[in-house]
Amino acid sequence: MEKNIVEEVFAKDVFNETVMRERLPKKVYEQLLKTIENGEDLDPSIAGVVAHAMKEWALERGATHYTHWFQPMTGITAEKHDAFINPVAGGKVMLEFSGKELVKGEPDASSFPSGGLRATFEARGYTAWDCTSPAFLKEDAAGVILCIPTAFCSYTGEALDKKTPLLRSMEAVSKEAVKIVNLFPDLEEVQTVSCSVGPEQEYFLIDRDKYLQREDLIYTGRTLFGAMPPKGQELDDHYFGTIKEKIASFMKELNVELWKVGILAKTQHNEVAPAQHEMAPIYSSANIATDHNQLTMEIMKKVAKRHGLECLLHEKPFAGVNGSGKHDNWSLVTNTGINLLDPGKNPHENYLFLLTLAAVIKAVDENAVLLRLSASNPGNDHRLGANEAPPAIISIFLGEQLEDILAQLLEKGTATSIKKGGRLNVGVNTLPNFRLDATDRNRTSPFAFTGNKFEFRMVASSMSIAGANTILNTIVADVFSQFYEELKDVPKENFNQAVTDLVIKTVKEHQRVIFNGDGYSDEWIEEAERRGLPNCKSMVDAIPSLVSEKSVEMFERLGVFNKVELESRVEINYEMYAKALNIEAKTMIDMASKKYIPAVIKYTKMLADSINSVKAACPQADISVQTDILTKISSLLAQAQSALYKLKEADAIGSKMKDVKEQAEFFKDDISTAMENLRKPIDELEVLIDKEAWPVPSYGDMIFEV
Ligand code: ADP
Ligand code: MG
Repeated sequence: MEKNIVEEVFAKDVFNETVMRERLPKKVYEQLLKTIENGEDLDPSIAGVVAHAMKEWALERGATHYTHWFQPMTGITAEKHDAFINPVAGGKVMLEFSGKELVKGEPDASSFPSGGLRATFEARGYTAWDCTSPAFLKEDAAGVILCIPTAFCSYTGEALDKKTPLLRSMEAVSKEAVKIVNLFPDLEEVQTVSCSVGPEQEYFLIDRDKYLQREDLIYTGRTLFGAMPPKGQELDDHYFGTIKEKIASFMKELNVELWKVGILAKTQHNEVAPAQHEMAPIYSSANIATDHNQLTMEIMKKVAKRHGLECLLHEKPFAGVNGSGKHDNWSLVTNTGINLLDPGKNPHENYLFLLTLAAVIKAVDENAVLLRLSASNPGNDHRLGANEAPPAIISIFLGEQLEDILAQLLEKGTATSIKKGGRLNVGVNTLPNFRLDATDRNRTSPFAFTGNKFEFRMVASSMSIAGANTILNTIVADVFSQFYEELKDVPKENFNQAVTDLVIKTVKEHQRVIFNGDGYSDEWIEEAERRGLPNCKSMVDAIPSLVSEKSVEMFERLGVFNKVELESRVEINYEMYAKALNIEAKTMIDMASKKYIPAVIKYTKMLADSINSVKAACPQADISVQTDILTKISSLLAQAQSALYKLKEADAIGSKMKDVKEQAEFFKDDISTAMENLRKPIDELEVLIDKEAWPVPSYGDMIFEV
């Protein structure tokens, strides 16, 4: 029988456990597995053997190069290819790959953002093999490349990437969670707790030829101009709609490419906005999920091009319709398979679950601004709080069942019952009648409990999920360590009561962060303010939270970031924000001066000419329509020209600023306003002017004609 395509291709390009078991000596394999699964120190003596097996496998598959694949703070992955060749006598080469080359790389680090961590004259940076994420093959025009996931650090050991802090946070949360879990009767044998993550990736697909005519999309990933077409997303007819043939063929190939590198691509559907779609994989360990999500984004872009499409990962490619995000589903699981966030059948009696829940509530409330920042990039500022994505205010949705349990605990000091879901009955006998979930969903919540995991819905679509998960792990580890201090000396017979008391105390102190209502409503913004919940409208306002005294103490104590690393990230965030807006401003200036304004001038000339020729041919003709349009257009043109001038002036001032914080704030306030002021008249002109005369594809062309 012919093999199913999934069976045929899945993980074909991955040096995973199965391949390692087949190709490594038993001892080496077991040694390596101990590091991968239990976090034991990597035995350096096995690197040579692993490298050899990896090379042989890669060569059989046609590889010519290897690369240390890493995630610098730019947020995209970096790679530098090295051929396996080594010269030998007789003018020949041998194909070699040593243990040293597997374990350590030394890319010139000076051109990656370091936020002052490393002056350019101290350019040394090292990549170190991360054996917990499997090596894989990448095949493209460059041939077949063996990619080795690595962490990227400076000469002095500071993290220059997103992966190192993530790995550190995973170790921290494991360590602190294990201490807590071990206090529970029968759970003394738990040794590690790992963090599972399933990121749902939203994206847009548009026609590549049209994309290439839009400098704003090319340079900034989003449209900086563009009037709404007569139809937007108001009919909600795209969400879960039938997938068009062209898109379906993209999705088919995307799945195959993802499966090949072992990515568990599972769900695909159309999203809310026209031309918007989503792919969700099955969850995996946070580190692998992060690597896989980076790869997913890269492969989406690559496959789209093969289909004459362009994949847009920006958070807000089109104003007026929904933007894209990434739902980061997160949970903690023991090495014995217990999900700490699984409420089980009787959540009110599940003390480990209630304690974990309380820990997350406290962690999120105490670190709301840090969390907000961890999901932020300049693009996401256009989404959060714009009635399509969660608000910028962090709150937690628990659902009816858990709210009820917590209410009972607060009222009576004990929870004695649980609300169960009813049965679905739609009044048609032939349809199945099944038990409903205990709780409905709340799509407006930024941080929602969804059954056995939390779903952090703020994360920016184009961004690495490493940051969000690093923060989540760290803040929860922090609360676990405090809880441990409170519970460690409690006698066994009082343990459940002590946990209950701690849960009650914690929920009392932090219930302000729990909100089950409509997160999009204006009332919530007011209510949140009354509750004292922070509302950072821009990521820029959230940046200082990284280096607050409390954050620095927490990150250092848990070994996730040291102060210098945090300061560098502050610097990088400000810089990244200002640079992104600077590029947007410059792109707008360029498009307005070279495309829109000349096109409008041409059009006004044509109108004027036609008015004159009508007048000449028929002096009595009524030309009020033409002159009216001409007057309107000319007035908008003058507005555009003046706004363009102001934007140029502001950008010149902003570009020269030396202090990164001041600069980011200037771009957030002054430049954004100047940009809006330029966009407005041009978008109005687009509606007035003949389509043939408009110099770029319109929103309608791009999002409805894919
Ligand atoms: P929902 O319908 O609640 O969005 P799905 O079942 O569609 O949930 O899953 C969404 C994402 O969450 C998927 O990537 C899925 O693998 C992931 N997920 C499911 N369970 C867990 C869990 N326990 N921990 C982390 N992620 C999970
Ligand atoms: Mg979801």
